[in-house]
Amino acid sequence: MEAADTRMSPREVLKRYFGYTSFRTHQEEIVEHLMAGGDAFVLMPTGSGKSLCYQVPALIRRGVCVVVSPLIALMQDQVDAMRELGIKAGFLNSTLDSREARAIERRAMEGGIDLLYVAPERLVTDGFMALLSRMEIALFAIDEAHCVSQWGHDFRPEYLELGVLAGKFPGVPRVTLTATADETTRREIIDKLRLAGARRFITSFDRPNIRYRVEIKEKEKDQLLDFIRSEHPGQPGIVYCMTRKKTEEIARFLREKGLPALPYHAGLDRDVRLRHQREFLEGDSTIMVATIAFGMGINKPDIRYVAHLNLPRTLEGYYQETGRAGRDGEPADAWMVYSLADIVMLRQMLDASPGDEDFKAIQYRKMAAMLGYSETARCRRQVLLGYFGETLAETCGNCDTCLGNVEVVDGTLLAQKALSCAYRTGQMFGVNHLVDVLVGKDTARIRAFGHNSVSTFGIGGELSAREWRSVYRQLVAAGLMKVDMEKKGGLRLSGKCHPVLRGEEVFELRKDPSPSARTTGKRTLKGAGAETPNVEADGLAEGFAFDPDLWERLRSLRGELARSSSLPAYTVFHNNTLREMVTRLPQTLEEMLAISGVGQAKLEKYGEIFLEAIKKHKEETA
Ligand code: ADP
Ligand code: ZN
Repeated sequence: MEAADTRMSPREVLKRYFGYTSFRTHQEEIVEHLMAGGDAFVLMPTGSGKSLCYQVPALIRRGVCVVVSPLIALMQDQVDAMRELGIKAGFLNSTLDSREARAIERRAMEGGIDLLYVAPERLVTDGFMALLSRMEIALFAIDEAHCVSQWGHDFRPEYLELGVLAGKFPGVPRVTLTATADETTRREIIDKLRLAGARRFITSFDRPNIRYRVEIKEKEKDQLLDFIRSEHPGQPGIVYCMTRKKTEEIARFLREKGLPALPYHAGLDRDVRLRHQREFLEGDSTIMVATIAFGMGINKPDIRYVAHLNLPRTLEGYYQETGRAGRDGEPADAWMVYSLADIVMLRQMLDASPGDEDFKAIQYRKMAAMLGYSETARCRRQVLLGYFGETLAETCGNCDTCLGNVEVVDGTLLAQKALSCAYRTGQMFGVNHLVDVLVGKDTARIRAFGHNSVSTFGIGGELSAREWRSVYRQLVAAGLMKVDMEKKGGLRLSGKCHPVLRGEEVFELRKDPSPSARTTGKRTLKGAGAETPNVEADGLAEGFAFDPDLWERLRSLRGELARSSSLPAYTVFHNNTLREMVTRLPQTLEEMLAISGVGQAKLEKYGEIFLEAIKKHKEETA
């Protein structure tokens, strides 16, 4: 049936194809605005449902919706998922040979495709522009629009050329979508893509189901293993590392401990990369240990945690990476460990990077914001959202600070001692040596430099070496000290430290939680993750019993079906949808259709099979 002919309403399309009964914030407005021919600039966080904003009008407006996306490796998956929903979709990129590409083009010309995914480098070719001008186009959707920004790490030069669409196709509505855009990037998108007249749809960036936590790195491998084993056993997650070598090392370590971890970085063979990505997407417990080369466009909804073993370069990057957790709205963790050595490493990388002074100045500012976040004694969510220009009036109750693991003390005197120790020893030594001096250790190095006779030798008995390292880290994070790369990571005082040295300003010190008190205790928000589904979270608890055996049964049925057609498990049904089946126990196709996430195509394909499984389970357990 041709949707365009039947003129379904947006709500009808939403139920029939996607199986959902209501729109989320802004979705309906955006859909209607586009259907009326307007342009739109959409800035909403990951997981908020941006794709639906162009998919629904694509099914209603006449012609093809052209989706520009840089995510070539994922187009096949996106198109497969669309087809599962009964939507006519196709893609054009460099993975197709010319015969396959021509076949898709022909289908698009003949109206056999509603959603056409195209890589930007193909779109801007003369040949493709000519083809487009002969096609009926419903709308243009430019996904990951922040790729237009030259300051960002996802910059794609071809995106700069997409502005021509405005002139060449004046009557066709355009929508740009992104989840990452600070004020500068926003302006760049609107300017470069010629969207001055577009209506802007911006929702809160908050991801309330993500719990933000930062710990101090001591034995990162053990800390990671402990975190995964105690909080996310058997669940999919991403572990981000700074270097390729480290991804392989950590993946090997986790595997040795019996966990299904795989490495991913740009240096691996394309085939290996694709195989690992596939295994991660299709499995429901794989751990991906990756560099930031992995992740853009990954829309696996049930990633339960994102762990960082190094400090990311910017808060934008951090927010984007952590945002990949918990797209299904269920509790998820953003967990990070870092140390002073990370700060030193980042500085080194920045100093060595090409780019002019202006560029570097911006990068240093961004790094300072990242450090500020890591060391903050405030609610982490308030700091994060504040960075993106949003104010959260109340503390969030779902970050480590709010959960009370962080104690803040007046650290002025300690800061003074640490600062003067660096000063007295010539502002050229690294943290370990400075700490040795403070605690009065007898080392060959101290004797060689005569540091056992400086006035700060041994004045730091009140703290352990570990605690002094934390003081130095926080002094660097707060900008009171600088890491001097010419002196191999030696610490110097900065102008900002004088008020603290003179005692005119209080230096607030965040006390590192002791390793034993590290685990955050019980989850207060909506219970645990996917393994122990939490029914209250859906507001379905009353009057319904949740049967964990049935849950397992439906889950493994989903796994079998997915494997038999090589699809990711979630393209069959999402966890939320399975959970609703377990609580509502549908008995007829009609009741099945009422479940959120069950549309017409899925009903026809899987409805009977799942009804049968539910029925059988009831009989067996009656
Ligand atoms: P984004 O592109 O903003 O990161 P997606 O478009 O991938 O987000 O949507 C995230 C998830 O939310 C998907 O699994 C999608 O099916 C689901 N979703 C989107 N809109 C709705 C809705 N109105 N009701 C229920 N689920 C929705
Ligand atoms: Zn908080």
